Amino acid sequence: MKLEGSCHCGAVHFTDEAETPYAPYMRCYCSVCRKTAGGGGYAINLFAKAKTLKVTGKNHISVYRVRADRVAPEPGEPTPKGKLSEARRSFCRDCGSTLWVHDPRCPDLLHPFASAIDTRLPKPRRRKYIFLADKAPWVEVPPAGPHDLHFKTYP
Ligand SMILES: [Zn+2]
Ligand SMILES: [Zn+2]
Repeated sequence: MKLEGSCHCGAVHFTDEAETPYAPYMRCYCSVCRKTAGGGGYAINLFAKAKTLKVTGKNHISVYRVRADRVAPEPGEPTPKGKLSEARRSFCRDCGSTLWVHDPRCPDLLHPFASAIDTRLPKPRRRKYIFLADKAPWVEVPPAGPHDLHFKTYP
C-alpha cells in the first residue's frame, strides 16, 4: 500500500510503501512521542519501508534526536543531558508537524506517524500499545484484549 503524507503547512510531502496496511498500528505512550507528536498522550507509528521513501521539501525538515540515556524523565524533571539516541525524528521546521521516526539500527524500517498521512488508512485490525510504563496518568488506554496488545516497554 502506498502512503502519501505531508506536514500541515505543505512544505514537506512524502510517499512511502507501507509494509502492509494491516500491520498492527503501534501506539507509543513514551514521553518523547507524547511531547512531540501525541496530542492524545500517544503517537501512532506505522510500518513502512525506508528504501521507498521519497521526499519533496527536504530542506524544510529538521531532525530531533533525544539527548538522554533514558526515554522518560520523571514529570517536571529536565531531560537528562546524555548521549544522543540513535532514533531520528523528522519534522517540518516551518510548522512543527512530526513526520516519521527512523533508527539506523533497523535501517530498512521507517515509522511514519499516522497523523502525517493523507492516504485514507484502513482501521487497524490489531493495535499495539507500547511504553505504557511511561504513560501520563491522564491518558486513557482501551483495555487489553486479543486485538489490543499491551506492552510496558518496546515489545
Ligand atoms: Zn510544514
Ligand atoms: Zn514513543
